[in-house]
Amino acid sequence: MIGPCLIVGAGFFGAVCARELTDAGIRCRVIEKRDHIGGNCYTRTHEDVGCHEHVYGPHIFHTDSRPVWSYVTRLAEFNSFINRPRVWYRDRLYSFPVNLLTLYQLFGVRTPAEAESVLQQKRQPQADQSNVEGWCLANLGEEIYETFIRGYTWKQWNRPPAELPADIIRRVPVRLTCDDNYYQDKFQGIPIGGYTAIFERLFEGIPVDLQIDFFEDRESWLDRYPLVIYTGPVDAFFDLEFGALEYRSLRFEREFLDVRDFQGNAVVNYTELEVPWTRIVEHKHFNADLSRERTLITKEFPADWAPGLEPYYPVNTDENVERFKKYRRRIQECEGKIVFGGRLAEYRYYDMDEVIEEALGTVKSLLGK
Ligand code: UDP
Repeated sequence: MIGPCLIVGAGFFGAVCARELTDAGIRCRVIEKRDHIGGNCYTRTHEDVGCHEHVYGPHIFHTDSRPVWSYVTRLAEFNSFINRPRVWYRDRLYSFPVNLLTLYQLFGVRTPAEAESVLQQKRQPQADQSNVEGWCLANLGEEIYETFIRGYTWKQWNRPPAELPADIIRRVPVRLTCDDNYYQDKFQGIPIGGYTAIFERLFEGIPVDLQIDFFEDRESWLDRYPLVIYTGPVDAFFDLEFGALEYRSLRFEREFLDVRDFQGNAVVNYTELEVPWTRIVEHKHFNADLSRERTLITKEFPADWAPGLEPYYPVNTDENVERFKKYRRRIQECEGKIVFGGRLAEYRYYDMDEVIEEALGTVKSLLGK
C-alpha cells in the first residue's frame, strides 16, 4: 500500500489525484497556497448579476475524450455553452474564428468557392513560414493577418509576430463554412453551478489546508509524507537550479455595470495593438442568464511575468524548452517519491481535459493498475 500522500496544489491535477487516491483507500492531505480551491478554474458566484465569475480568465470545458467527459459530468451538470468568440477591431465587430461570415464581412464573399478564390488572391508567398507573420501572410493574406492576428498576438506575447513560432497560431482555425464553434471537440460546456462546486465535490471528506506555502516548510513535508504530488512551478521546486522558466502573465480588471447586457457575448477579443487589453469577458453569458439589470465584465491585459505575479502561459522558446529538459532529468530522479503534474510542474499549456486525463493516468500507475 502506498501513502499517505501529500498533494501540493488544489487545481484539477491535485483534486483528481486526491479524489481517486482517497477512493482507493489512500490517506491524502492537500495544501494550497491560495485562499481558495480550484486553481485557475476557480469561479465566484454573484447572485446580483446571476453569474459565476471566471476569476482567472474564461474556462470553457471541451474535450474529445468520452471517459473525461463522463468523469466531469458525474461531478456536475454541464450546460450546452459553445465558445463563439467575436472580434472587435477598429470599432467593427466580426464573426470569429475566421469563417465564411467573417470573409463576407471582410471581402463580401458569399459562398465557399468565392471565399477560396479570394483567399488565393490574398495569399502572399513567403520564404519563411516558420514564424507567425510569415505563416499568416502566406496562408491568409494581409487583411486577415492585420484584423485578427497581428495586434492580438503581439500583445499576448509582447513580441513582434515575426519573432514567434508559427505553432502558436495553428490552433486558431480558418474555415470556409459558417461554422463559428471555436473548438472542434465532441463535448463542450460549462458546469451550471460553476467550477468551484466541482472542486468541492472532488475534495469531499479530504483535508484541504488553504494559504499554506509548501516552500516554507518543504523539508518537513517531504520527511513526513512518503508520497508527494507536486503541482507548483517546477523551477521553484529545484531552487531555480537551471534558471527561471519564463511565463506570460495576465492582469484582470473587473467592472460591475448597471446594464442588463454589455456586449451580447461571453468573449470579445480586441485585436488592435493600440487597445491594451486582449479581450473582454462578460460572465453572465456563460450561463445565459440575462434576467438581472446588472452585469460583470473583466478586461484581460497580458503582462510580463515577474516574481509575485501568477504564471499563466509557458513561453515555448528554444531556451525555455532546453531549460525544462534539464529540470525533467531532475524530475526523473525523484521517481517513486514525488510526482510532478499539471501545467506548472510540467511546464505545458494544458487544457483542463488534458490535465484530468493525466491525473487519472498518474493515479492508475501509482496504484499499479
Ligand atoms: N489569436 C489571435 N487572435 C485572436 C485569438 C487568438 O491572434 O483573436 C492567436 C494568439 O497568438 C494566441 C493564439 O492565437 O496566442 C492562441 O489563442 P487561443 O485563443 O487559443 O489562446 P487561449 O484562449 O488559450 O489564451
